[in-house]
Order: sequence, then structure tokens, then C-alpha cells
Amino acid sequence: MKVTERLKAGGKVFSFEFYPPKTERDSVKFFEAARELKKLNPDFVSVTNSSSGALPYRTAALSGVLKAELGFEVVAHLTCVAHTRAEIKEICARLKTMGIRNILALRGDLHNLDGLQPRRDYSYASQLTADLVKTGDFSVGGACYPEKHPEAPTLEEDIARLKEKVAAGAEYLITQLFFDNAFYFRFLEKAAAAGINVPVLPGIMPLTGYKQMQNFTQLMKVAVPEALRRGIERWDGDKDGMFKFSVDYASAQAAELLKGGAPGLHLYTLNRSRAAIAILKNVKGRIAV
Ligand code: FAD
Repeated sequence: MKVTERLKAGGKVFSFEFYPPKTERDSVKFFEAARELKKLNPDFVSVTNSSSGALPYRTAALSGVLKAELGFEVVAHLTCVAHTRAEIKEICARLKTMGIRNILALRGDLHNLDGLQPRRDYSYASQLTADLVKTGDFSVGGACYPEKHPEAPTLEEDIARLKEKVAAGAEYLITQLFFDNAFYFRFLEKAAAAGINVPVLPGIMPLTGYKQMQNFTQLMKVAVPEALRRGIERWDGDKDGMFKFSVDYASAQAAELLKGGAPGLHLYTLNRSRAAIAILKNVKGRIAV
């Protein structure tokens, strides 16, 4: 089922994000986690992608395996900034062969090109979105940023650009992770006022340590509320204490989002199952979904 159809069917939508494992050992762990997460019957899983080297093909291959072997509905991420139109066409043909009908259309990070040069066929995700929609083969989603994309001068300007992406055919949006729900709700209001009416799935991730928190705040420019910062500092170095604190924080955040009208949840799993399982269990214990 295409994700758009699932979103239209109503009820909350739950999804997990994976990335292609890099080593054989990681692959074994990854499939263990994926099998555990399959038991929760998510509406879809998504597989990240990087512009560099063979990764778009690894994303396609892994997406195919997750669909054919484990029975997940899969959204393949596809970045465009380092690809030509011909390459994008080839990757799409590969995805289609794998039975993939859902793509998250992305520009890709300019600072993360591993020596590749932007190819200039695509400068923005909206252009990729338009090309994908034209094929008629895929349901297309896009990324959005409740605290604004780091390169955008203002949230208002970012939302104006987002409107172009939706007009190009993005049928739903998945947010950058955030730790303060006020940003999500403010973003929804501003997006609606700008005429964006597609579902916006909030992306949630439990933090695993102080260093990770610092990396995210620096790289993604997302705010960390004081209570979260204090907890992460308090439990850093204590694996069990950190797990419990982070899962509790993310569970409370998720429950509030769903109660506040979010159409579902997209959990950034980092290819692990334990935290995602605990969060969904907590959420389902708190509210009827
Ligand atoms: P765009 O929508 O193109 O926006 C990028 C910037 O350009 C924004 O500041 C926007 O305001 C601006 N802009 C857009 N259109 C115009 C225009 N016409 N003129 C001027 N400015 C414009 N990265 C990966 O490498 N692999 C992944 O798998 C991946 N998955 C992601 C999943 C999610 C849910 C999210 C939120 C991000 C993901 N990213 C991934 C990161 C993403 O590639 C980066 O954040 C990237 O910098 C922007 O991608 P985008 O698709 O949002 O770009």
C-alpha cells in the first residue's frame, strides 16, 4: 500500500527509520532488530540514503529485502543533489523492480558529499519531487523542519519553499527530529496558514548520551529543552539510567503529539529495536491509538 493511501485511511500511522548497515556484523544486528520491530506491525519503515558512492543502490537493495523477506511497506529515501537525471532514473527503475512504490524525495546535505560535486541537475528536493511524480510510479513524501532548515533565513521563508515542494507533489511530510513539541505545533499552524494541508508525521528519537546530544544540536540546529539537557547530563555514562530516562522522555513527547492531533509517529531507530518497542508500548499504555 502506498503511504498516502494508508494516511488517508485514518487512524494513527506508526513508522520506523533504518539506515543501511555498513558491516556484516552490523547487518546481523540490524536484521535481528528489524525482525523484532516487525512484530509491532508498523505501517511502514523508511531506509535512508546517502549521495555518495554505491549507497543509493544499497538503499534500493535493502528496501527490496525488507519488503520481500520481512513484509514491511518500505519508503526508500532518495537524495538528488549529487545525481544526474539519468542516475535518478536508473535508481528509480531499480526501486520499481524491487517492488518499492514509496519514495521520500530529498535534496541531501551539501556538507556531506564525501568529495562528490553537486551535479546541478537538481538544486532542491522540489525538483526531484516533480520528476518522481511525473513517472506515475511512486507516492512521494518530503522532509520538513519544525525549527526551520539550517540554511533557511527564516521559518516563514522555509515554509514558503516547502509549499513549492508540496505543490510539486509531496503528499506527506516527515519532520526533522525535535525535542520540544511546541516547535511542531507552531510549525503546523504556520504551514496551515501558508496553505500546506498534507499530513506531517513528527520524527522522534530518544537520545543515547551527552555527546550525541551535542552532535545533534550542532549539526541539525535543534533545541534541547532544559529538562532534557539536565537528564542527559545526569545519566551520561549510566547505560540503564540513560535508557530509561530517554525512553520516558520520548514516550511523553510522543503521547502529547498524538493527543494534540499528530497523524502518527516516525521513530528514528538507529537500527535498534529496544527503545522503539518500549516507546510504542508506553504510548499505547497512555492513550488509545
Ligand atoms: P529542500 O526541500 O530542497 O530544502 C533545502 C533548503 O533549500 C531549505 O533551506 C529550503 O528552504 C531551501 N529551498 C528549497 N527550495 C528553494 C528554492 N527554490 N530557492 C531557494 N531556496 C530553496 N539526508 C540524506 O543524505 N539521506 C537521507 O536519507 C536523509 N533522510 C532525511 C529524512 C528526513 C525526515 C529529514 C528531515 C532529513 C533527511 N535528510 C537526509 C537530510 C536532508 O537531506 C537535509 O536536511 C538537506 O539539507 C535538505 O534536504 P531537503 O530535502 O529538506 O531539501
